[in-house]
Amino acid sequence: MPNQPVSGNDLARFSGLQTFMRLPAAETAEGLDVGFIGIPMDHGTSWRSGTRFGPKQLRAESAMIRPYNLQTGAAPFDSLNMADLGDVAVNTFNLSDTIRIITETYDAYLKHDIIPVGLGGDHTLTLPILRAIAKKHGPVALVHVDAHADVNDEMFGERETHGTVFRRAYEEGLLVPEKVWQVGLRGTGYTAEDFDEARGWGFNMVTAPEIWHRSLTPLGTQIREAIGQTKTYITYDIDSLDPAFAPGTGTPEIGGLTTPQAMELIRALRGLNIVGCDLVEVSPPYDPSGNTALTGANLIFELLSILPGVHYR
Ligand code: MN
Ligand code: MN
Repeated sequence: MPNQPVSGNDLARFSGLQTFMRLPAAETAEGLDVGFIGIPMDHGTSWRSGTRFGPKQLRAESAMIRPYNLQTGAAPFDSLNMADLGDVAVNTFNLSDTIRIITETYDAYLKHDIIPVGLGGDHTLTLPILRAIAKKHGPVALVHVDAHADVNDEMFGERETHGTVFRRAYEEGLLVPEKVWQVGLRGTGYTAEDFDEARGWGFNMVTAPEIWHRSLTPLGTQIREAIGQTKTYITYDIDSLDPAFAPGTGTPEIGGLTTPQAMELIRALRGLNIVGCDLVEVSPPYDPSGNTALTGANLIFELLSILPGVHYR
């Protein structure tokens, strides 16, 4: 039997070591199918900080999640061997060094055949992850759920920030551009043409108003069919959700996804050839209730439920 979360009937949910879903902690990725990797950083953010505490609170709130997805039938822990690999040893005084460290840490884990699940941290971290992922798998399809496209060229002259990730990834050839789907985009722009250039690269952009008041099952199905079996990375920015549901984040934008829409979208992506994923931008100081991290942890569970090889009951 693969590693199992510690049951709330064996050890009280508020007890024990703080790993994701109370899975075992592991030193290496050897023998794992899935590894959770905390990336406690917020020095790539442009507005509110605090995401350095994201991994810690995601793990804390994950303690209440039970192992079976009763609505979809997914049994991720009966199917795949998972463990928590702890946190990347970021350099909190140096963003570019942190970016280097993240890639090197992922390179080491990816010597084994694992699906890394990143716990953020600000969205800058997805660029060094994609560098490691592309080294192993080649350019990947991308499902990017976010209020923001994160395709700026520079911010204060800096080329590696949480708002420039997917332009850099495109330029570096880490992505299959026509298989990039960005969902939930909204808010105000720096220019009236902010999205036009990335559309020209082949990126598929779905703005929030296009999906207001609608089930996201058809969109998820469309994305799954369009990507097919191309290796796919999923990056989930919690600010894709409306601030009413996820206020604990650095750059909130009104008019976002509802929690059920977020769940519908992920569930409809089942069947994609996922090689890695992350959930980023949870900033605990802006939501002391923990609801944002609770939502984030449950969305990670939904992502675990659609990984390749997961059995359904
Ligand atoms: Mn983002
Ligand atoms: Mn965002």
